[in-house]
Amino acid sequence: MVKYRIAVLPGDGIGKEIVPPAMRVLELIGDKYGMEFEFKEALVGGAALDLVGVPLPDDTLRLCLESDAVLLGAIGGPKWDQLPTHLRPEVGALLPLRKKLALYANIRPVILYDELVAASTLKEEVVAGTDMVVIRELTGGLYFGEKKREKHPTGEKAFDTLVYTTEEIERIARLAFETARMRRKKLTSVDKANVLESGRLWRETVTRLAGEYPDVELEHMYVDNCAMQLVRAPKQFDVIVTENTFGDILTDQASMISGSIGMLPSASIGGQVGLYEPSHGSAPDIAGQDKANPLATILSAAMMLEYSFKHYQGAADVKRAVAEVLKKGYRTGDLAQEGNKVVGTKEMGELVAGAIRTD
Ligand code: NAD
Repeated sequence: MVKYRIAVLPGDGIGKEIVPPAMRVLELIGDKYGMEFEFKEALVGGAALDLVGVPLPDDTLRLCLESDAVLLGAIGGPKWDQLPTHLRPEVGALLPLRKKLALYANIRPVILYDELVAASTLKEEVVAGTDMVVIRELTGGLYFGEKKREKHPTGEKAFDTLVYTTEEIERIARLAFETARMRRKKLTSVDKANVLESGRLWRETVTRLAGEYPDVELEHMYVDNCAMQLVRAPKQFDVIVTENTFGDILTDQASMISGSIGMLPSASIGGQVGLYEPSHGSAPDIAGQDKANPLATILSAAMMLEYSFKHYQGAADVKRAVAEVLKKGYRTGDLAQEGNKVVGTKEMGELVAGAIRTD
């Protein structure tokens, strides 16, 4: 039997509620196909700050590096918002974790299940059939450039810098071209080359690489236009590749096409160990109430099967189980419409597990 070690980092807020259903789904897929998953849990984010005083303990990082994949819930919350920047869960844990695991690419599929067309805030004719992948550069750009605060005659001055090297742009662009090649062969590179120097280097580099991928149609788009096009005509997109911060913002916006941010999974890859997490945060407003949608995390587990373990059949089973449960009318509160059967986090997890068992 093949055995995989998975580091489980539930984190904060709804993280603790959405991770167990995804683990259950992996166990069932393991039973079905003869894979054994060994789960080891570790502290991260606010939960780690409260217990050991740092947001990313060395033990947690070591466990991640020694595992075959990482399953993360979400981190952060108002309790830790006032801490100095380097201790805040997002800056002190999430960013270094991505850097230390060398996860330079974050892959976020935006797919609208037929059953959820009515749950999208956009008109059916605009969103039905949307199927795109956003590839966000994850270890460079504005989130990782030098940041500083200093005294200023008016009070203080703060700055963040957006830095990219040719190499960083090339590796994410190659992944995007390769991804487009396996799909509908259209790549939209999103930048702000009309204003930012880093955007000009981004555009020049992607354009140069396009020569190696003559079968892929490349278009460039400014990020402000892309934000508009995503809600005007999302079906025009196949693969989008973009800078770290732009990708963060655009994918939250794109999540509403799929009905809820609770539907958007993600895979962060590039190093030895892939990290899988929902695209949303710790949702403190609904934490501990059994209201969170666990499907983004369950679908992130499907991405783990696909990207880390190359088990495409298992991944397909998970996606089919999710579609089946939605087809039967079950919804968590974030997606609920008239006539739906509204369920909590746990029940939604059990329903997906049941659909895998009876597959
Ligand atoms: P959020 O994504 O946590 O929540 C935004 C809204 O979406 C909230 O109304 C929330 O209830 C809802 N929502 C999110 N996930 C949901 C789910 N699975 N089911 C149903 N509803 C869901 O974003 P926020 O409120 O801006 O941030 C909250 C905290 O999370 C902050 O501390 C932030 O820094 C952190 N955060 C962490 C990550 C991460 O861990 N990767 C990502 C984004 C934000």
